[in-house]
Amino acid sequence: MGISRILIANRGEIALRIHRAAHEMGIETVAVHSTADADAMHVRLADHAVCIGPPPAADSYLDIAAIISAAEISHADAIHPGYGFLSENAKFAEIVEAHDIKWIGPKPEHIRTMGDKVAAKQTAGELGLPLVPGSDGAVSDVEEAKKIAAEIGYPVIIKAASGGGGRGMKVCDAEDKIETLMKQAGSEAKAAFGDATVYIEKYLGNPRHIEFQVFGDGNGNAIHLGERDCSLQRRHQKVLEEAPSPVISSEDRTRMGETCAKAMRDMGYRGAGTIEFLWENGEFYFIEMNTRLQVEHPVTEAITGVDLVREQIRIADGKPLSVTQDELEFHGHAIECRINAEDPFTFAPSPGKVNYYHAAGGMHVRVDSGLYAGYSIPPYYDSMIAKLIVYGRTREGCIMRLRRALEEMVVEGVKTNIPLHQELLRQRDVLDGDYTIKWLEEWLATREG
Ligand code: ADP
Repeated sequence: MGISRILIANRGEIALRIHRAAHEMGIETVAVHSTADADAMHVRLADHAVCIGPPPAADSYLDIAAIISAAEISHADAIHPGYGFLSENAKFAEIVEAHDIKWIGPKPEHIRTMGDKVAAKQTAGELGLPLVPGSDGAVSDVEEAKKIAAEIGYPVIIKAASGGGGRGMKVCDAEDKIETLMKQAGSEAKAAFGDATVYIEKYLGNPRHIEFQVFGDGNGNAIHLGERDCSLQRRHQKVLEEAPSPVISSEDRTRMGETCAKAMRDMGYRGAGTIEFLWENGEFYFIEMNTRLQVEHPVTEAITGVDLVREQIRIADGKPLSVTQDELEFHGHAIECRINAEDPFTFAPSPGKVNYYHAAGGMHVRVDSGLYAGYSIPPYYDSMIAKLIVYGRTREGCIMRLRRALEEMVVEGVKTNIPLHQELLRQRDVLDGDYTIKWLEEWLATREG
């Protein structure tokens, strides 16, 4: 029997996104929530709701026992983890499957391999993905580190094997600093992730962040859905994403996309995945793979017409991919703005009550958000409150429509970064698609100064 009731182990816009896909497939939903989210939109819309604990995520959205109990008492036959929280926790995936509940995600062993960056890089290399030159696995010995750095050339970056969120990384530009920086990276990684293992790779000076969306059925079939350009970042947090990338040719898309899809076929990968690359001087360098749905997945949906959450649910249910590579076509251009409740200049979070809310609308405008007038944004979680995704036949048309849509968005009662997006979309470099992962921070520095 197929999936009939999905427990959504997440909150906010992504919980709502999953609920929508499920209902369009005739599947019921179970929301789980902390006491801080009792009035959230995803809880209101779900068919069933279970409170799983107090506000801190560690006591609610990360509490595996509470979530499994909620699935048992609500008779859910599948769990979708969304992104963040438990989505890349291999142990959670195993526990879900051990309870005879369908896990809407990749095979636990693949989550585990890709979660360890040293193992991930090794696997990616074996699968034929181009790597950033660097150490062959973990490095613990300083002399060995110096030897590797001399071979690949300075600057190098020392990275934590268990790293995430941009933490545990140190850029080293000279041999006499390598010992100190290795120790620092190791102890930071130990404190943050409980694992001091580090590795070394060449530091790329001014790359773009380009990622490929892939999908596998778990039985050796896999496709790619093109790339997203997520180079506009502040402190390694993506701010605006677009598809296709303004700099990737259709030949490169086909070539790299096919390399990624083949890697997933060889792995027997199941479900949605994102293979992240740095791109510099026309070359791709693998940095990591995310074994889950990404925040920015809607830009891919906009240019391919494929509902990625529906696809995830179908695959978890043992169905084949609904499109073949040959059937898949890319049309037009899409951009997503992440709208956060934060000060547009200082970036300080701005939680609180939303007195008035009006979402943008019109042709090719999508707003994924759980906001409503009277809603109180809790201070305990991520500050992202909405995603505005706009499609246009051309990049220029998409930007004009996005500017128009941003003018329409009204969120009163809290500060948002809408003015930042409006300013960004007036910058020549952004209009020209001429930016790298360094661009936003450099621009912010001139703007503040
Ligand atoms: P995390 O999992 O912590 O996000 P990633 O490996 O994805 O770590 O890297 C995060 C960011 O760090 C990248 O988007 C890029 O900005 C920077 N970075 C990582 N590796 C390199 C490198 N070899 N050269 C230059 N920048 C890098």
